[in-house]
Amino acid sequence: MSAEWPAPRVCVVGKPKKRQQSHQFGSHLGIPGSICILSFAVSFAATRDFVKDEAIPAIFEAALQSGRLFARVDIFERGNRGAWNICEVKSSTDVKEEHIDDVAFQLHVANEAGLKISRVDIIHINRDYVLKEKGIEPKHYFRRVDVTVEAKKRLHDIPGMIKAFLKVVDEDRAPEIEPWTQCHSPYECEFLDRCTASKPKD
Ligand code: SF4
Repeated sequence: MSAEWPAPRVCVVGKPKKRQQSHQFGSHLGIPGSICILSFAVSFAATRDFVKDEAIPAIFEAALQSGRLFARVDIFERGNRGAWNICEVKSSTDVKEEHIDDVAFQLHVANEAGLKISRVDIIHINRDYVLKEKGIEPKHYFRRVDVTVEAKKRLHDIPGMIKAFLKVVDEDRAPEIEPWTQCHSPYECEFLDRCTASKPKD
């Protein structure tokens, strides 16, 4: 179900690519200023400060942490009565299964960090949008979909997934897995060149 667009004014920005996206996003929304922070540690500290500042209605690229778990939230929007909304921006034209895993992980980290989350949304491109002469209108170009129920249901799977991932992270060597379809779906793996270096080109 679609909802109203947030009116954030402040960004906490991480990776350069994301930083540019957030600036574009921010300027489209008429956000007067943004704060750019590169390292996770600095972003985390800034997020913690911004969360306490009730004058700030939303944080772009908010950095959340709980123990060994780190999550970035594209738009962390202040909700009602001390709660927050998680908004994940995707370049797809609909909500995909892997998006739910993504926001469920963010929800898990936020919960573990003691933050109250009232709503989880995926913001994606509206496939029916027709570009107007005056340029892109963000309110119509994007669709905001409430996936709170789906994300909460998926929470059940998250601890098991984290356990499995941390087990791999703690290994001294990378697992011996041959490149296959998992390298391309749901996303192109950034290690593809390395893993296929010894393979024939065709
Ligand atoms: S390219 Fe990525 S997904 Fe494929 S085997 Fe290597 S690390 Fe695994």
